[in-house]
Amino acid sequence: MILPLADLLDAHSSERWLTQFLHPSGLRCPRCRAGTNEARLFRRGRRTRLIDYRCNRCDTVYNLYTGTFFFRKQLNPQQALLLLRGIQKGDSVMSIAMEVGVSRRSVYNLARCLRGNLGHEAQAQFELSRTRATGCRDDLL
Ligand SMILES: [Zn+2]
Repeated sequence: MILPLADLLDAHSSERWLTQFLHPSGLRCPRCRAGTNEARLFRRGRRTRLIDYRCNRCDTVYNLYTGTFFFRKQLNPQQALLLLRGIQKGDSVMSIAMEVGVSRRSVYNLARCLRGNLGHEAQAQFELSRTRATGCRDDLL
């Protein structure tokens, strides 16, 4: 039985956790490094439901996924969280695909691209947590 975990997770909590994971120093404009307090809400992503910010200093549009592995991946925060969790735990591609609600090929491609593309701070944190959880650093995928 596959539990509909993506449907059960709270979107706001998932987004908050991902923000802290992907941007431990806080979400900032990728061009001028201004914080979101110096940006205005530009729009909300149709599929991801993420807020796109427009920087008041340089007009750059960015969101939670900008500059990270998840950029343009069209995953909502719950799906991104479940994908990270599945890979970190060493779950099978099939299991992750069913939990996240995407194809196995998508999970395979996403997992292959994940390493080295999370962003420097998040990558280090992810590798550390993955090593703790699985006891090794080998790729299962
Ligand atoms: Zn800016």
